[in-house]
Amino acid sequence: MWETDMKVANVSGRLHLVRDGRVLDVAKASGGRFPAEPGEAYARWEELTGWAADQPDDGFTEAPPATELGAPVPAPRQVFALGTNYRKHAEEVGWPIPDTPLVFTKFPSSVTGPDARVGITGPRVDWEVELVVVIGAGGHRIAAADAWPAIAGFTVGQDISDRDVQMRPAATPQLGLGKSFPGFSPIGPVVADLAEVGDPHALGLRCWVNDELVQDGRTDDFVFTIPEVVEYLSAVVTLLPGDLIFTGTPSGVGTARRPPRFLAPGDEVRSEIAGIGAMTTTFVARPA
Ligand code: ZN
Repeated sequence: MWETDMKVANVSGRLHLVRDGRVLDVAKASGGRFPAEPGEAYARWEELTGWAADQPDDGFTEAPPATELGAPVPAPRQVFALGTNYRKHAEEVGWPIPDTPLVFTKFPSSVTGPDARVGITGPRVDWEVELVVVIGAGGHRIAAADAWPAIAGFTVGQDISDRDVQMRPAATPQLGLGKSFPGFSPIGPVVADLAEVGDPHALGLRCWVNDELVQDGRTDDFVFTIPEVVEYLSAVVTLLPGDLIFTGTPSGVGTARRPPRFLAPGDEVRSEIAGIGAMTTTFVARPA
């Protein structure tokens, strides 16, 4: 099922194929065989991939500006995230390398698109560029060896984190709350499949705050591989089409810098993963 490179995007709320910087409206081009709603693509990913391979280049049109892009999964039912899944990040925050995946959840209402404006919620809001796995067929009790066919593809994510909210109460930190304000889970600009990204354990991730490069990591620093994470999560939870797994952030977050650095209104965070794309998140004062 991976022989065909495929990328999809949410253009003005409609699912589009993306090829060589051009786009094709899936519902229109398929005569309604596939729905326009981007979130419905993932349950039929293999069928969609087969159809996409037959679409000629001349049906594609010029890609729209980034302002028309929405989250490629606008309303995932479940959003998982991993803490300290990069060795260098565990070192910088002074946490031990975990011997089982450190799992928390981001609430789905925090998901937004790749050109979002996000309200600053306090004095210690931080960036975390992450590779995000998008579940395709999904399932329960998926063995690591069977993980790839359960996955649709990969997108770029930011696990934006209000460190004050995340770390309280001190005895039992609430990562899910501190990382789930509106807009704290931007994803995009596309979902690219395995054939498109190549080896997802050899991807470079970079994050800039304004013009300064603050994170420059590689997924070969993962503590747990993607198949290991899928096996671990699905041993408990049924993974559903369109679910997201934020796979952890590399080193270079603001809270670990000396002195620490956090986001302020007017800052622009650019997040990029080679083979998938880049997105820009603009931070604004929180509305009163
Ligand atoms: Zn994170």
